[in-house]
Amino acid sequence: MKKADVLLVGVLLIAAAALYLAAPRRPAARVAVYHGGNLVWTCPAAEEGECTVSGVRVVVSGGEAYVAQSPCPDGCCMAAGRISAQGRSIVCLPMEVSVVLEGPGQLDAVVY
Ligand SMILES: [Zn+2]
Repeated sequence: MKKADVLLVGVLLIAAAALYLAAPRRPAARVAVYHGGNLVWTCPAAEEGECTVSGVRVVVSGGEAYVAQSPCPDGCCMAAGRISAQGRSIVCLPMEVSVVLEGPGQLDAVVY
């Protein structure tokens, strides 16, 4: 891994931990998929949908999100199972993909 990769992974982990700690156990409003720190796909959590990023197939179904398929060597993102609570996330480090369940109270930007 390059130094930038390590940094990126660290940032992703901290962001995921912060989201996890900040969020009460409420159903998520939307599923957001990030690749390398960039938002690449979203889907309302109540709808059905799927996307493939870097070979990682993310499925949203029945208010839950999970990784159905991934080319990563350890497969722990697939082993993470299904997530449904706001603030939960699945991170695939080798593919730099993260799946985050975001709630209605989380804003992309705050303007004063
Ligand atoms: Zn993975």
